[in-house]
Amino acid sequence: MVENRIKKIVVVGGGTSGWMAACALANRFQNNYTEITLIESADIGTIGVGEATVPYIKEFLQDLKIDEVDFIKNTNATYKLAIEFDGWQKQGVSFYHPFAGYGARIARIPFHHYWMKLNQKGTAKPLDAYCLSSQIAHHKKFALPKPNNEVELSTFNYAFHFDAALFAKYLKTIGEKLGVKRIEGTITHVKQHADSGFVEAVELDEGTEIAGELFIDCSGFKGLLIEETLQTGYEDWSHWLPCDRAVAMPCASTQSPASSTRSLAVEAGWQWRIPLQHRVGNGYVYSSQFSSDERAIELLTANLEGDSLAEPKVIKFVTGMRKKTWNKNVVALGLSSGFLEPLESTSIYMVQSAIDALINHFPNRNFDSYLTDKFNDVMKTRQQRLRDFIIFHYYANKRHGEPFWDAVRTMSIPDSLQEKIESFRHTGQVLQDDLDFFRTNSWLAMFAGFGIQSERYHPAVDNFAEANVQQELDTIANSIQRAVQGLPSHADFIRNNCAVD
Ligand SMILES: Cc1cc2nc3c(=O)[nH]c(=O)nc-3n(C[C@H](O)[C@H](O)[C@H](O)COP(=O)(O)OP(=O)(O)OC[C@H]3O[C@@H](n4cnc5c(N)ncnc54)[C@H](O)[C@@H]3O)c2cc1C
Repeated sequence: MVENRIKKIVVVGGGTSGWMAACALANRFQNNYTEITLIESADIGTIGVGEATVPYIKEFLQDLKIDEVDFIKNTNATYKLAIEFDGWQKQGVSFYHPFAGYGARIARIPFHHYWMKLNQKGTAKPLDAYCLSSQIAHHKKFALPKPNNEVELSTFNYAFHFDAALFAKYLKTIGEKLGVKRIEGTITHVKQHADSGFVEAVELDEGTEIAGELFIDCSGFKGLLIEETLQTGYEDWSHWLPCDRAVAMPCASTQSPASSTRSLAVEAGWQWRIPLQHRVGNGYVYSSQFSSDERAIELLTANLEGDSLAEPKVIKFVTGMRKKTWNKNVVALGLSSGFLEPLESTSIYMVQSAIDALINHFPNRNFDSYLTDKFNDVMKTRQQRLRDFIIFHYYANKRHGEPFWDAVRTMSIPDSLQEKIESFRHTGQVLQDDLDFFRTNSWLAMFAGFGIQSERYHPAVDNFAEANVQQELDTIANSIQRAVQGLPSHADFIRNNCAVD
């Protein structure tokens, strides 16, 4: 049999996505199956933002056998239970999107149907009152979920806030231990096969040529291989997501760290606040149609909790994705594959999910187009589902009389999102399948947070006397409050378990 395996993988870029890819591939293909080389340029540098994650990151750490406490200490991380959305529905209203479920099933019917009945009658508390995780976050507390808990009240998940630059540095050490060869230099030329157009090698500024069979493009927004070389094309989604800039600026912490990311809706977009152990990450994502850069910087600066620790950095982006994220022998990951604003902290998740999909569809040197097409379909569908979830945050707002918010509330939306909303209104259920990262609980958080009600709850709920349903819900809310009272503050939990030395 002809030896057809890929023997040389070249990862272009040493930001978060480059090092995540190099580590994961080196971990999977050990014993010299393939050689992995990563090229990074100190002259170009990394984007250096990207500090909030979703729980899926824990699987990445586990696969690499990374100890969570070691990871936290090396990246100045804090825990994240939820995102607090403040002012999104309208000014003064806030709600959480937790990594958790609500209440507990009663007679095998999901909790939210009981809540929807009482909510229609105006006797339910806000949905967050029935979520342990939202309440822990609201009180700036933290505890690890207990394994093997039979009650849904206790099943919650968590992610991290971390320093992006430290994360890449941490992964670099791990990658090098796993055998990744690191080359420092700037690529100035890309060599392609004359007939097929496949990338054969990249050339560095000092003339060295690095050849490969599979290239992972992690070169950031420009997409050095996927776009500048292969001209794959970009699907632009900015008519649905008009924010096209962010200004980022870290500041000193003056408060004990929250166990949630804060997303505050402001005049032409939204502001993030991400607490780390040593500082707070801040940024304002805005639409240049509705705000100048100067105004954005002014607004962000006025909203910092402590002294700024760096000059404001304005970053421009176009929301969308490459028409193919795997083209010929180039797979694009991270910013080179496309971009969705960090409202739900999904970029690093998408990097991870693309690495998993690549490993599942790993090619040999024949590059079977079936694998490529499957990979592209999966990545596209996943990204479109995330896109719809993000669009919903804007579209559902009730901030009447503000030009940016009026524009996004009255825009047309993708049919797939329209269908999701309609289905919920009619059935009280969320349309979903395996390619959805955000499932029922996440959509319920949004529907409830924006005050969108379903016309129907499950008819079997009417089997129970209303007073009994009310009593069940009150019991759940009360037991959550009691559980939260006994927990340590997030600051104390970090101090006692994983503080940076
Ligand atoms: C404002 C903002 C906020 C964000 N917030 C979040 C968040 O909260 N959560 C989240 O999950 N994600 C977030 N992201 C996304 C996250 O930052 C990125 O997904 C992540 O950092 C990955 O970036 P990257 O590695 O793809 O690119 P980069 O960090 O840009 O790295 C590119 C690499 O390519 C190298 N390179 C480029 N050109 C060459 C060349 N010619 N030769 C050699 N090397 C080259 C560079 O040196 C660098 O090492 C955010 C992004 C932005 C813009």
